[in-house]
Amino acid sequence: MGIQFIDLKAQFAEMEQDIRAAMDRVLAHGRFIMGPEVAELEKKLAGFCGVDHCVSCSNGTDALLMPLMALDVGPGDAVLTTPFTFIATAEVISLLGATPVFVDVDPRTFNMDPVALDQTLADMGGAASGSPLPKGARGLHPRGVITVDLFGQPADYEAINEVAARHGLFVMEDAAQSLGATYQGRPVGNHGLCAATSFFPAKPLGCYGDGGAVLTNDGDLADTLRSIRVHGKGSHKYDNARIGLNARLDTLQAAVLLAKLPHLPAELEARQRAAETYGRLLDDVKYVTAPDLAPGRTSAWAQYSVLSELRQGIMDFLKQRGVPTAVYYPLPLHLQGAFADLGYRKGQFPIAERCAEIIFSLPMHPYLDQATQEIVVRAIGDAVAKLT
Ligand SMILES: *Cc1c(COP(=O)(O)O)cnc(C)c1O
Repeated sequence: MGIQFIDLKAQFAEMEQDIRAAMDRVLAHGRFIMGPEVAELEKKLAGFCGVDHCVSCSNGTDALLMPLMALDVGPGDAVLTTPFTFIATAEVISLLGATPVFVDVDPRTFNMDPVALDQTLADMGGAASGSPLPKGARGLHPRGVITVDLFGQPADYEAINEVAARHGLFVMEDAAQSLGATYQGRPVGNHGLCAATSFFPAKPLGCYGDGGAVLTNDGDLADTLRSIRVHGKGSHKYDNARIGLNARLDTLQAAVLLAKLPHLPAELEARQRAAETYGRLLDDVKYVTAPDLAPGRTSAWAQYSVLSELRQGIMDFLKQRGVPTAVYYPLPLHLQGAFADLGYRKGQFPIAERCAEIIFSLPMHPYLDQATQEIVVRAIGDAVAKLT
């Protein structure tokens, strides 16, 4: 079999017995909606992340949406986030009628730049330091910040939380790619009001369908989220306290995740080793910049993303050699048609735009061996030699 970008088959081969047994238990008890595995998973995940509450849900996008609903984010509100992320991060803001306000990223970590966040907030308040703002931004009420832990590396929470606190804003982590990563020694989920994560199959902890969860130390928020995920239920099933969603995690998916969770620490270590090996091998390759971890952070290495002006040539060459690659993300969100109404223009977020032009990701998963990584990096070296 060829080189896999993310090797879910190798993982299944490793855990097949546990996963089949867990799924069989659900088939036997038949409680497919909110069965006992759901609560068990929430308890174990909260323990794993060192948070008081884990509220599972249908996918990572709903995990982002539900806290915004709980906080009554809506028309007239602004939520600040990065343009260099997956559409879901900002989509949930618009879905509630609020306005996404983008903030450029740091060129080394690809995560939100706290200085740019501070400047954007100052400009929304009437200062004029030249931050790009969406149409009508000066009349909006800034409510919160959604940071993204892109590719698995946590954002700069100390600096971002300081800015957010000064402006009275909540901070929500988009931890869809960073479950298991740490910032200043503490796991994601502890660095803002809450964190949203995803169990999409390709994420660091993936199920066999859609799934997600919110992690938080705020008990009131957790209670509201538990209500929102079941149609805004009140004290019983046919008492509806608020408008909610049908956003539960399937019991079968919880069972898959329960079988996989005990393996996650070893998988995270294997990803870290693979990242170190790539870093070492890429040291000898010119025209390709390997990713960096900022001080005080560990990454879940959801992706291993490199920068190169020669991106297209290298990717084409690697494809011929049977090495899969991918681009996350080819178009920053402020230039997406879905956000055309915001009135942003090309050139306004130069770092995100530059990254989108030259970034690409190499095969990365816990079952990647050094011999395969040597093949990948040798192919990159050969491509660079041919292209320069
Ligand atoms: C995957 C992802 C999401 C959405 O998760 P789903 O489970 O697919 O809804 C949100 N944000 C980021 C950064 C992601 O990578």
